[in-house]
Amino acid sequence: MSALETDKELSVYESMAARFDVAARMLNIDEGLTKYLRTPNREIVVHIPVALDSGVLEVFDGYRVQHNIARGPCKGGIRYAPNVTLDEIRGLAAEMTWKCAVANIPFGGAKGGIVCDPSKLSAGELERITRRYTAEILDYIGPERDVPAPDMNTNEQTMAWIMDTYSMHIRHTTTAVVTGKPVDLGGSQGRREATGRGCMIATDQALKRFGRKRDETRVIIQGCGNVGGQAARLMHEAGYKVIGVADMFGGILNAHGLDVPALLMHVTQTKSVKGFAGGESIGNLEILEQDCDVLLPAATESVITSKNAHRIKARILTEGANSPTSPPADDILFQRGVFVIPDILANGGGVTVSYFEWVQDRQGYFWPEALVNERLEHIMVDAFDGVVRYGEKHRVNNRIAAYMLAIDRVAFSVKLRGIYA
Ligand code: GLU
Repeated sequence: MSALETDKELSVYESMAARFDVAARMLNIDEGLTKYLRTPNREIVVHIPVALDSGVLEVFDGYRVQHNIARGPCKGGIRYAPNVTLDEIRGLAAEMTWKCAVANIPFGGAKGGIVCDPSKLSAGELERITRRYTAEILDYIGPERDVPAPDMNTNEQTMAWIMDTYSMHIRHTTTAVVTGKPVDLGGSQGRREATGRGCMIATDQALKRFGRKRDETRVIIQGCGNVGGQAARLMHEAGYKVIGVADMFGGILNAHGLDVPALLMHVTQTKSVKGFAGGESIGNLEILEQDCDVLLPAATESVITSKNAHRIKARILTEGANSPTSPPADDILFQRGVFVIPDILANGGGVTVSYFEWVQDRQGYFWPEALVNERLEHIMVDAFDGVVRYGEKHRVNNRIAAYMLAIDRVAFSVKLRGIYA
């Protein structure tokens, strides 16, 4: 992550809490309930001993934070990165609660992480770390409890290891314990593309509001992993003009439109967009400030802050990453008339198809990709309309509208259930 060192104005949890507080106040939520909804239900910290290939024993720190289960089992990804912190996981867990509520799917929120540098670990080491982490949190996960999924630097293989470890312990194969698995092990068609596809669907809805066409819309994407890379491919195929793509090593810009299939081929071969011949090279933060219609940050948190928000030229900001914009930057973007599609709405396509995967696993009956995509579109369009209408009604920006809508739904479930004491 070294080349995307960003200036974190607020931590991820602080950013979440700042937005939560504004929305809860607008909703007139009482003090006790505000305190409850702001606080995670459970925080698990584990220290995982793992023998490295060299024979040396190392201990890794791991977290799983379960924020809220009022609307259903916890749901959320697990990330592997050297700079993972409990505060970050705590903030992202809460964001998962709000994201699932915005999509109106029956889950609460959770997030997990392990402090490690996957680029320096072998497949065997990653497998041992993953299995031991799973064993440590085993009593707290399960199809009815908490259902992990991929996030930064984890993938289908990671989910297969978690599923296998869990199944070995409980003595029968339980595919629904995680989502984002390989299709041959109970994964869903369309899950791999789902977050990028959801970002495109949300952007399509924004274009409709502005009476714009895809082929006259220039897009810049920061991030070329599972979210950014898929978004680039799908948006290019759908007729958008993708003019810039960046990853952690640098960016590539071509005002006439990038040859996205060739760029993605270059990324497969060299592991980076850097050095691609079909455009000029540019810094991965500098790319955010270039002239475009849609900016899609899909890499990491806190890349848009009060330091650069006034230089963003895009008309639409589609947040593919979690928490890419700081609260002070929100105000600047809003004043400048940027139409922000907030993370808990824009990147909800991933967890939505995770929900479909969980449903399919529990039924043992699998859907064709066209049906997955059709149902994803339905949920994304409903969520988009819900947030934008809520914002217009309450005269707040899309970010606060998304939080208000989500908090309202979760608070309603809490009230119906009552507080068990
Ligand atoms: N990690 C993804 C997210 O942040 C997906 C979570 C899931 O599918 O449970 O939304």
